[in-house]
Amino acid sequence: MLTAFSYYDPEEENRIQQGMKNTAFFEREREIAHGFAASHQGLWRGTCPACGQEAAWPIFERDGVAYERCRECGSLFAAVKDADVVAYFAQEDLRALRCSDEYQENSTESRSRRWDDILAWLGFRAFRYLGHNEGLSVVDYGNRWQGFVGRIRSANFCGSYFTRDSLLAGDERPAAGSVDIVLAMNYLERLTQPEQFFAEAEELLSAKGLLVFSIKAGNGFDILKLRGNNPNLLPYEHNFLPSRVGIEKLLERMGFELLEYTTPGTFDLNYVISNEDKLGEHDYFTRYFLDHATPNAKAEFQRFLQRSGMSSYAQLIARKKVRP
Ligand SMILES: [Zn+2]
Repeated sequence: MLTAFSYYDPEEENRIQQGMKNTAFFEREREIAHGFAASHQGLWRGTCPACGQEAAWPIFERDGVAYERCRECGSLFAAVKDADVVAYFAQEDLRALRCSDEYQENSTESRSRRWDDILAWLGFRAFRYLGHNEGLSVVDYGNRWQGFVGRIRSANFCGSYFTRDSLLAGDERPAAGSVDIVLAMNYLERLTQPEQFFAEAEELLSAKGLLVFSIKAGNGFDILKLRGNNPNLLPYEHNFLPSRVGIEKLLERMGFELLEYTTPGTFDLNYVISNEDKLGEHDYFTRYFLDHATPNAKAEFQRFLQRSGMSSYAQLIARKKVRP
């Protein structure tokens, strides 16, 4: 298993380790999500968006919204209506918050190191799989951080840059078959119909083009330990949490070959530790482990999750399968 670098899970790092300012932004986002969930009716979906099987089972509720789990592949998905998810992201107060100078400046301050790490990793991987890493055409999905957009535009590997489904700019669609890298960091979790995204990516990419994305993995340790009590899980914001098996099946079905699946996240256990009171009532082993394991044993456990591809933050690289 390749692990290019280590860093904290981006979502939790900001809020738990870097103080009140981020926490205040997140609290506001959480309020908006809670309010939206309270005023909208869910819809049982039944069919797994990852493996396509009709094998869903209710696993927990969050803010009154059911999350379904696929018996076949272990992916999780929210029982919500497609149109409501569109309405959620179109909310004026959410857009205004995320577009505000303060939100953007704060994000740049707290995430710059991680963005630089990702772009260094991406340049290295592009060279490995494309044979060069200059002048590449990049399409970036769902990026809501000006600081990250600016860094990608000025990265050594980037020749032309387009955004899709971004808060910050209108959609730009390059010609089919012309794109070297489709980038979708922290994007798939919002989707209710991920097949549409993969079909579009397949169409845009050149013959050897790369699809580079991250997922919040539904088989991750903190996701399955905290379930409906996970303060970081927002219905309508986080609708699709594929398992590793599920995303592999989806990629295969949509015409991609998986090149790398790494889980550089290092925060699963810390996140469960900081939410110990939200563990399941009968989860005696985890409680015992948290209370009595040595710091070394805890660090070993997190390293095990990371090395074995079991952390809840995963980065993937795939490429189009060659058509016969
Ligand atoms: Zn499935």
